[in-house]
Amino acid sequence: MPKILIVGGGYAGFYTAWKLEKQLRKGEAEVTIVDPLPYMTYQPFLPEVAAGEIEARHVIVGLRRHLKKTRIITARVTGIDHANKVATITPDVGEGWEEAYDQIVVTAGAVSRTFPIPGIADNAIGLKTIEEAVAIRDRILTNFDQASNLPPGPD
Ligand SMILES: Cc1cc2nc3c(=O)[nH]c(=O)nc-3n(C[C@H](O)[C@H](O)[C@H](O)COP(=O)(O)OP(=O)(O)OC[C@H]3O[C@@H](n4cnc5c(N)ncnc54)[C@H](O)[C@@H]3O)c2cc1C
Repeated sequence: MPKILIVGGGYAGFYTAWKLEKQLRKGEAEVTIVDPLPYMTYQPFLPEVAAGEIEARHVIVGLRRHLKKTRIITARVTGIDHANKVATITPDVGEGWEEAYDQIVVTAGAVSRTFPIPGIADNAIGLKTIEEAVAIRDRILTNFDQASNLPPGPD
């Protein structure tokens, strides 16, 4: 059976697998998603999570729950040898391995840029993952708590 390997289970990767599940006949191809996160994140809702308006769990879609016919690998792709059609899979825990494929879909998204602005890389929090959105919310609430203990300033 031909093997389709999707690198990244974010917006593009999730929908690729979801559509393939609908369109492929049984036994026509094996679809695999590799992502270090077991869920897809609706990034446009991250500001609402950071603002505390919605809960973190409302912004994510579990890959295993919604992609019943897709093989899910929770790991990172750390190399692609496209000449030999082999990808290197590296999990957080345990040994990595080589995964052969016939077709590869690279949808690994983007990373937050910090630009050469002093202090950004050390102090700022990105807004691409649910963990970052929750960290921003927590930092804002902590800052409000600390500010509430300060003596009043001048009018
Ligand atoms: C705050 C915010 C608000 C936004 N608002 C809007 C909006 O209103 N409208 C709009 O159209 N777009 C919006 N966007 C943009 C939109 O969310 C992105 O364009 C979209 O998520 C990109 O999809 P993607 O699949 O390319 O990447 P992502 O959704 O980022 O998915 C990439 C996936 O790849 C995985 N990955 C990364 N590296 C590896 C690796 N080495 N191996 C395996 N997996 C890997 C990641 O864990 C992630 O799950 C917004 C983005 C942000 C951050």
